[in-house]
Amino acid sequence: MKTALIKPQGFCSGVTRAVALAKQAKLENKDKNIYILGMLAHNQILIDDLTKDGFITLIGNEEEEINKLKKGDILIFTAHGHDEKLDRLAKAKGLITYDATCPKVKSNLDKIKKEINDNHQVIYIGQSGHKEASAALSISKNVSLYDTQLLINYQLITDESPFVLNQTTLNFYELSKYHKDIKDHIPDARIANEICNATRLRQEAMLTIDKDTDLIVIVGHHKSSNSNKLFDIAKANYKDALVVMINNLDELKKIDIRGKKKAAIGSGASTPQCIVDEIYNYLLKI
Ligand code: SF4
Repeated sequence: MKTALIKPQGFCSGVTRAVALAKQAKLENKDKNIYILGMLAHNQILIDDLTKDGFITLIGNEEEEINKLKKGDILIFTAHGHDEKLDRLAKAKGLITYDATCPKVKSNLDKIKKEINDNHQVIYIGQSGHKEASAALSISKNVSLYDTQLLINYQLITDESPFVLNQTTLNFYELSKYHKDIKDHIPDARIANEICNATRLRQEAMLTIDKDTDLIVIVGHHKSSNSNKLFDIAKANYKDALVVMINNLDELKKIDIRGKKKAAIGSGASTPQCIVDEIYNYLLKI
């Protein structure tokens, strides 16, 4: 089958950095268990590889997981950022911590802190329950979530010029819709577009696929925000194509793609390149 790779592919800089930091933690603490508080980045194959390398991913309630650890244990915080109270809890427990928070996420969190210190309210556009959004909301009760599903209670915003920013991995093309809604309610709101480059470039590339492509494969985990957004964009823009999101080749093999002639493969910023290559080579041969 004719098959195109929608570039960029492979880990983004934030995930690359998180993996490197985890390896560094292991090198520096050879005889100890290394715990990761949740998925280091949202991809199961990456997590399975880390497990094979001896890392222990903690998947329960974060506070409870930290409370189970003992003084001197090694704990890695993930690329998505985390609630600040977890830092305090880890410190109080005497854990040795490594922070894999992506610099782009960290920069957003710093901007929120500055606005709060300047006595402004912050409207954060994000997905309820996502770790990055939870980290932002944990900074202050003056950070309000504009949920991409439920919108916002504008009565909570008394600041005439609140600062508006967003989760880094949202749909670039939908963000302006949320900004317009906020501006319609609060004309002096100050708006920043904080979609990260890794997310934006993948989404822009998704719109460059040949129009006669009849199979679009997004390789990514269902928890990966930017993989989900690629899927949404492909679905909305290529109505005649079969659009599927899969984790690996085995999942693709279970889907009926008979009769398809031209494929394109996109992947999330936390999808390992080797999985994409495997799927690419498979599709080329059929
Ligand atoms: S997708 Fe963007 S924000 Fe998330 S880890 Fe990668 S570079 Fe950072």
